[in-house]
Amino acid sequence: MLLLPTAYLAPILVAMGYYLGALLGVKASIMSEGIAILWPPNAFLLAALLLAPPKYWPVFSCAIIPAEILADWPTFTVKQALMFAAVNILEAVFSAVLLKQAIGLPVKLDRLRHVVLFGLFAVVLASGSAALLGAAVYTATAGGEVCYWTNWRIWWFGDGLGLLIITPVLLSWFQPEMDAWPRPAAKRLPEAVLLATSTIATGLWVFSRSEYLTDQFPLSPMLLLPMTIWAAGRFGMRGAASINLLIAAIAIYCTLYRLGPFVSMRAADNVLQLQEYIAALALSSLALAALLRELNLQNEQLRILGRAIDAVNDGILIADARAKDNPIVYVNKGFEAITGYRGDEVKGRNPRFLQAGLDPDVLESVRQAVAGRRQVRALLRNRRKDGSIFWNNVIIDPVCDESGEVSHFIGIQHDISDIMETETALLAARDELAATNRDLERRIEQRTRELKLANLKLAGLAATDPLTGAYNRRYFLSHAGAELERANRHRQPLSVIAIDIDHFKSINDRYGHLTGDKILVELTETAKSALRPVDIFARFGGEEFFILLPETAREEAVNVAERLQARISRIRVAEIGFSVSIGIAPLADDTELEPLLERADRALYAAKNQGRNCIRIAA
Ligand code: GH3
Ligand code: MG
Ligand code: MG
Repeated sequence: MLLLPTAYLAPILVAMGYYLGALLGVKASIMSEGIAILWPPNAFLLAALLLAPPKYWPVFSCAIIPAEILADWPTFTVKQALMFAAVNILEAVFSAVLLKQAIGLPVKLDRLRHVVLFGLFAVVLASGSAALLGAAVYTATAGGEVCYWTNWRIWWFGDGLGLLIITPVLLSWFQPEMDAWPRPAAKRLPEAVLLATSTIATGLWVFSRSEYLTDQFPLSPMLLLPMTIWAAGRFGMRGAASINLLIAAIAIYCTLYRLGPFVSMRAADNVLQLQEYIAALALSSLALAALLRELNLQNEQLRILGRAIDAVNDGILIADARAKDNPIVYVNKGFEAITGYRGDEVKGRNPRFLQAGLDPDVLESVRQAVAGRRQVRALLRNRRKDGSIFWNNVIIDPVCDESGEVSHFIGIQHDISDIMETETALLAARDELAATNRDLERRIEQRTRELKLANLKLAGLAATDPLTGAYNRRYFLSHAGAELERANRHRQPLSVIAIDIDHFKSINDRYGHLTGDKILVELTETAKSALRPVDIFARFGGEEFFILLPETAREEAVNVAERLQARISRIRVAEIGFSVSIGIAPLADDTELEPLLERADRALYAAKNQGRNCIRIAA
């Protein structure tokens, strides 16, 4: 933090600067009047305090005491010198404390505010109040006819000018970062030399003339103003401070020799005029240097921010909220990339030209938010320059100026067309999937129906005899058992009929197997049509058939058998007729199917034995 060369060397340098400053101050004085035009020593002490941390302040302050005594000898006594030193230390420390509080250390004077505070605290306040003490010491101990307030003014102005001219030179040259921008002055040495020589030439020309008051040519000290502007503009604080020092040196030197514009009146008035001139010139160029530095920093920041804004992929647009219809005043590169419009094509237009068929509700919410100066987020359907559509997820944010008024709207656009496309594709895929699923379900349903049908068919095939379509023996046995059980449980009657074609072998033999088959089919048809749906008619094998008649008692079973026998006797296959023998077994106390069937079979055999074509009932 210590910016002076080294901790040990620094106090010695400060003391030397202070001592040389005092010698220079004496040189810059009009001895006849005892007025120092510019008093430099305090400027060295103040610069040292502003560059160093406060722990070094006592060392620097003490260092100037011997310098003061030495410089004052033999004009002032040691006692007087000590009092002057105390006043000067007070002044420098007071300035440094005020500036440290207001600006912070080290003081750089690279802000306009800092220059103003430096002028106010150091040049006016500290210097002016120290002068109250200094003038008191001087008036009381050195005597003379000059009144206290004149001494006060002389002390103050000389001291203040010393601080104003020399402290900035020391501050700027001892801090490397205070070098000129945008490039160090060393890289523009020719220009620096040209500035210095121009300043010296103009300064000498203006201040070394004695015929200033002639009206041939108005030689004005203001001719040096362009030099200070040049210095401040091109070489920053270091240049401005250095040129100020140069001009002050020339002006003071020439005026002391009664040359230049400030020699027309009494010496004391001339000094005042000269001091005013130097102070005004110096303060304005320091302020200008600081202001330009500040502007430069802000520009740099703006440039960086601009770069950052352009580097963003999102579109950013700024609309002027104070102008009529909120015209666009700025768009970034992201906006140009998303919309296809160049910045100069859209500036001055209201952003609504991007809209492409918006949802009225969305539009209304945006309109209300803009009118009410509120932030709003919306998904807008926008049109690019080439006419294509993009989905713009936009945030519109009002920006307030220093007075709190909304000055601009910032719109941040996020192109989410990709997301929307993906979503649409997803929805389409979902619909397609649903359609495929429905199709699949339909096909499965159809297949299931077909399978059921096939199963039914299979079940039918398994249950029926392929030749006649009558139930087969397996079906009969599996269902007749259940019927028998039910009949027993409910104490209901049940009968079984057994049928066998008479002399079927000889029919086969005589008319052929096919005719025999047809007879079997015809018999089945005839029997089925004569029976109820609940009756089970089954072919047991060959030309033997069994019929289970649920809820059918003996008499009813006999009726059925007789009806069947009668109808069968009327069947003709290729002119051929045939007869059947029938055995009936009504349910007695049978609990099993087999004995019941055997009884029917036995009755059938009895019919066969009795000459066939007849009906017998089991006992
Ligand atoms: P009966 O009056 O004593 O019953 O004399 P029948 O000739 O009918 O004697 P039986 O019952 O023993 O004869 C069965 C004959 O039935 C033997 C066979 O030629 C014939 N048959 C068996 N199954 C079929 C068939 O599926 N088709 C044809 N056409 N004939 C069959
Ligand atoms: Mg038989
Ligand atoms: Mg037979």
